[in-house]
Amino acid sequence: MEDVIRLAAGDPEREDLVTGKVVLVLSGEPVHLELTIPSGQISVQALLPIVQGLSSLMAERASRRLEAHGKSVSCRAGCGACCRQLVPISAPEARALSDLVSAMPEPRQTQVRQRFADALAALGTDGLIERHTQPGDGSVTALGMDYFRAGVDCPFLEDDACSIHPDRPLSCREYLVSSPPLHCANPSCESIERLVLESHPSLTLLNSEVMTGWMPLVVALSFAEQAAPAVRDRDGSEILRELISQF
Ligand code: SF4
Repeated sequence: MEDVIRLAAGDPEREDLVTGKVVLVLSGEPVHLELTIPSGQISVQALLPIVQGLSSLMAERASRRLEAHGKSVSCRAGCGACCRQLVPISAPEARALSDLVSAMPEPRQTQVRQRFADALAALGTDGLIERHTQPGDGSVTALGMDYFRAGVDCPFLEDDACSIHPDRPLSCREYLVSSPPLHCANPSCESIERLVLESHPSLTLLNSEVMTGWMPLVVALSFAEQAAPAVRDRDGSEILRELISQF
């Protein structure tokens, strides 16, 4: 009997859902998926739980391959060293994070919103927020290093742990290292050994035709406040097919 990985998006109490089967071939091996999504025309954001599940799947497969070679992932709860890095997210992820914050009870919601405002203020003084929209003003790697040196915590970091772990962005799911945790405090291409994933759903979403551009996580709330409503003009299965075909 084949193992089937089931992933679902949508609310069965409020939406009509459809289920389809997909076979992904990863490293020459078939991976059987059963995907449940809202029927009809939907936004990319509505499919985010599926993409998050696929992102976690890639990370888990990479961890297992590493363990098969006698190594292990160094990342642990309570080590938030990488949570001061620039986290690139897509517009659907920004909207989802904004919805998540809006659904938080008080006083937590106000605290998290204040952390976003503080992070933007700290990063804005160095022009780091504007630089992501100005390609050519140094490389993305240089921007990432400058951002990290600013030492600004992710607004969701609490006691050096991710406070939204089940809902964390795709980039966070896919960032795993096998190098000593000590190196994460002063990362460089030489000292950090990142796990090699068979595919990066985060990049697929950022690069896909259904998406344009990226933004740092810290601008998620301001983006969602100012952006036009999400477009719902395509069938969910069509969006999903386009995304998965790029894995
Ligand atoms: S969302 Fe969570 S895992 Fe990602 S940078 Fe923020 S605290 Fe870290």
